[in-house]
Amino acid sequence: MNYNFYPGPSKVYPQIATYFQEAMDLGILEKNHRSDSFHELFASTKTLLKSKLNIPLDYEIVMVSSATECWEIIAQSFVKNASMHHYNGAFGEKWFNYTSKIHPSSEGQEFNISEVPEFKNPTHSPELIALTHNETSNGYAIPESYQKYIRNLFPDSLIAYDATSSMAGYDLNWDLGDIWYASVQKCFGLPSGMAIMVVSPKAIGVAKEIGDNKFYNSFNFVLKNARKNETHYTPNISNIFLLNRLMQNVENIRAIYKNLIERKEVFFNQLNDIDYLTPIITNPEFQSDTVFCLSTDESKLKSIKQVADKKGFILGNGYGELKDTTLRIANFPAIPNQHYIELINFFQQV
Ligand SMILES: *Cc1c(COP(=O)(O)O)cnc(C)c1O
Repeated sequence: MNYNFYPGPSKVYPQIATYFQEAMDLGILEKNHRSDSFHELFASTKTLLKSKLNIPLDYEIVMVSSATECWEIIAQSFVKNASMHHYNGAFGEKWFNYTSKIHPSSEGQEFNISEVPEFKNPTHSPELIALTHNETSNGYAIPESYQKYIRNLFPDSLIAYDATSSMAGYDLNWDLGDIWYASVQKCFGLPSGMAIMVVSPKAIGVAKEIGDNKFYNSFNFVLKNARKNETHYTPNISNIFLLNRLMQNVENIRAIYKNLIERKEVFFNQLNDIDYLTPIITNPEFQSDTVFCLSTDESKLKSIKQVADKKGFILGNGYGELKDTTLRIANFPAIPNQHYIELINFFQQV
């Protein structure tokens, strides 16, 4: 038995084994991706995603290979000259760095984990504002009130959210962003190797106007295929199938999110009694509901890890410069509630 709290790749839903067997039995993994069976699979997966995650019907869904690929697609296809990035962690910074290679005049601004991003020049509206909805490296999440504020402040800009560790966990307010994307090995609870991009009509219009068609994964080409229920390359059919069956069987995101918030509350309450662990994000408004980043001292961290190894607890290492003093705990839907009770017991024993 092990208890996996790693925030990516993370615990996969146990029913994935059954779905895999079903995919084998149906022969879908051996079907051509231009065949009718694939068209049906792709179409129904998009419909299920929209209904279970409450995605607006006029948004389009495309499937690509990773969140990293989304960074590149966004820079290629949704930005003419420069995008504006605000970040406070490793993933947001990487996004900015990848974009800068394509658009060197893109701007990046770091902000503190105890604040919201601040726009120095609110009269200038950027082409595209890039924000990490849930910063997996430090457990910071952009509050919805701020998403509304930014939407109103820059009605002409596109807003893109990296939701890799929040999509399928959070009950997202999709209208507040134009491009949302996530790879599936985190909050979705699926094996790695695929990402989902959810795109507003406004962003589709901008991509069309920019007209990028230079790359195999230029968004206009990706979308043209997706509208025919096809993909621009032979896709990860197994993951699309697993996603399809998962979306058939999970509850609506509202119920899933409610459970995540409730167990976060219980967990943080009990954490108060464990004096050697404190959340690095102290303002509850910015504390992620799906990734908890806890700090401790270096020697304590070593002993936690040793005991964790022996007892079968898989905890997330700290990320980047936080490596030696923090650990990360995923609060993803595929992890059963009972495991958080076991985790608190474990922390009490260390
Ligand atoms: C994991 C992660 C990524 C990178 O995902 P890949 O699937 O490796 O491309 C990007 N952004 C965030 C916020 C992440 O958590």
